[in-house]
Amino acid sequence: MEYLSLPSGFSFSQSSLQDYYECPRRFQLRYIQRLQWPAVDTEPVQENERRQQEGQAFHLMIQQRLIGLPVEKLGQNANTPDLSRWWGNFLETKLELPGYNQHIEITLVAPVGNYRLLAKYDLVSIKSHERVLIYDWKTYHKRPRDEWMIAHLQTRVYRALLVQTGACLNSGSLFLPEQITMVYWYANFPSEPAVFPYNTAQFNNDWEALTGLINEISNHRHFPMTEDEKKCTYCPYRSYCNRGCTAGTQTNYADPESFLGEITFEQIPELEF
Ligand code: SF4
Repeated sequence: MEYLSLPSGFSFSQSSLQDYYECPRRFQLRYIQRLQWPAVDTEPVQENERRQQEGQAFHLMIQQRLIGLPVEKLGQNANTPDLSRWWGNFLETKLELPGYNQHIEITLVAPVGNYRLLAKYDLVSIKSHERVLIYDWKTYHKRPRDEWMIAHLQTRVYRALLVQTGACLNSGSLFLPEQITMVYWYANFPSEPAVFPYNTAQFNNDWEALTGLINEISNHRHFPMTEDEKKCTYCPYRSYCNRGCTAGTQTNYADPESFLGEITFEQIPELEF
């Protein structure tokens, strides 16, 4: 049997942890063997690429707006129906930003054993010694359920990591979990953001689970395929696993819950392989 191990100094992210949680084999193929994707995520390919490019362009427009570029100039980049609608929705939305210090597109990193946990934030908005808002822009075409998003690894990594590392943004003082709120703002559903406050009990649970998961992965030498073949539907490594070589449809791809699968994070510490 071939034994595998993580590269030294590996940086975990919500994406890699999500991959492991969905399927240990996918984690192995993507992050240990670093294999190219032999199958496209979804069909048609051009439609998928268009969506990704629009999402990236929209994030860049918001980033540039937050650093002060004029609305009129940026509006010229809203040159597709989706971008135009998202941009209009963003401009009409009153985000809680005045009086806050903005940290745009920042990356925070914490050591976990011999590894690192890393997250890149769209926006961390801080009112000194009072409140911290983590904003994340989503361009999903279907709004996910709140109970799905709060269990999503991104929500738990982003809030917990900010508690662990936030002193660098707060004059050397750590944030209390109770000061932190995570906001998913949906470009297609601008008046229905998902808002998730935090507390110390949640943080303790999250950090224990995250460090436990990283420790578990780092000690693995065998990464089995998921038994839930629904998770293979949108996986680009299908041909490596004899689980098909054609891609999922774009219709379903627009639904983030069907793309990423159902997550019950509380089960993570109990996973045995
Ligand atoms: S095709 Fe299925 S078993 Fe193979 S890596 Fe992807 S999710 Fe895992």
